[in-house]
Amino acid sequence: MRRVSVFGATGSIGVNTLDMLARQPGEFEVVALTGGRNVALLAEQARALGAEIAVTAHESCLPQLRAALAGSGVAAAAGPAALIEAAQRPADWVMSAIVGAAGLAPGFRALEQGATLALANKESLVAAGPLLMAEAARHGATILPVDSEHSAVFQTLIGEDIAAVERIIITASGGPFRDWPAERIAAATVAEAVAHPNWAMGARISIDSASLFNKALELIETREFFGIDPARIEVLVHPQSILHALVGFNDGALMAHLGAADMRHAIGFALNWPARRPAPVERLDLAALGRLDFAAPDPERFPALRLAREVMAAGGLAGAAFNAAKETALDAFIDGRISFAEMAPLVEATLARLSAADGIAAAPDTLDAVLAMDHLARVRAGELMSGGFGQ
Ligand code: NDP
Repeated sequence: MRRVSVFGATGSIGVNTLDMLARQPGEFEVVALTGGRNVALLAEQARALGAEIAVTAHESCLPQLRAALAGSGVAAAAGPAALIEAAQRPADWVMSAIVGAAGLAPGFRALEQGATLALANKESLVAAGPLLMAEAARHGATILPVDSEHSAVFQTLIGEDIAAVERIIITASGGPFRDWPAERIAAATVAEAVAHPNWAMGARISIDSASLFNKALELIETREFFGIDPARIEVLVHPQSILHALVGFNDGALMAHLGAADMRHAIGFALNWPARRPAPVERLDLAALGRLDFAAPDPERFPALRLAREVMAAGGLAGAAFNAAKETALDAFIDGRISFAEMAPLVEATLARLSAADGIAAAPDTLDAVLAMDHLARVRAGELMSGGFGQ
């Protein structure tokens, strides 16, 4: 029996992960399930799977979690320290699907146990890619991509020599504002931004898809996962979200990965790797689809991709600052403090405020250094907003 834990079990990826675990009965022993505020779902999941422990990120939710788990034999815990303790429980496979930088520390601790880390939390790699990769190598742990584009690249590279790769192309649906003029995008509401045309995902990643910040994070994620020069990573707008990524080789071959827009494919692949097992995803009917469209992203209406390239060129702790500034801007947009169009300028202004004296050029070689830069960038972004940014 493989011991598995799911961090972010109550979210979109978490629920799909539990669905995949349930399809292979008798193969897994569930160690820890974690969630945030959705305590009722977390308790229901933990009872159904007979988890050892259920952890909510919020101390204030602990009484409710305890009550919901009474008599079940499942332990209950709460808070950031409890998340770390859960990550330190021996497990063979751990799903990292907390949203945001909050997912970094638990994933890092799971690597220390030598677990296979299925990484949906792309923010971890953006903030601390070199650190996570070094930690995995030190403990003989494996990090597997769960993001659909990165799973697609990973699958396309099986049996290939990375030295023969000329370029990697990840696709972007373009989000709900793909064809909107800049003035309309500027006034977009949260409800409009959250309405992704193809994927059913959590609210935050859906809004990041609308701004292309999600693709910006994925550009950096591609560099960290596959170690190729950023100049050889391209983004291609593909509205149907059928073709997830392509790898171009030095003989001119371009190998593509296609599949339905259903995260259970990538989750199942990471769960069973290196084997393939049947997955309950729709099979493509290409004749019915008829066509697949492609276009270059528009850098004027969607500046996030340019920012990601600047962050990769800067290196050091710029990724940690970028992600934290992006999360702060996203919170501000969701709360109505800034407009949709102000998110990218706020991120750019925050990065401009962080100098070498703040340590932005330092290598991301400890978790503390990454978390300190994450904190500082949030403070700087907050200062910019209290100084009238967006008024
Ligand atoms: P959701 O918002 O649906 O779920 C997020 C999960 O994290 C929930 O379990 C939530 O708990 C928990 N959570 C929220 N805040 C905290 C916190 N501060 N500390 C600990 N736990 C917290 O997100 P998704 O499932 O959509 O995304 C999860 C991750 O996977 C993200 O990094 C995203 O970028 C990535 N990803 C998602 C894809 C998708 O299709 N959804 C595709 C590729 C990558 P609760 O809900 O109980 O409050």
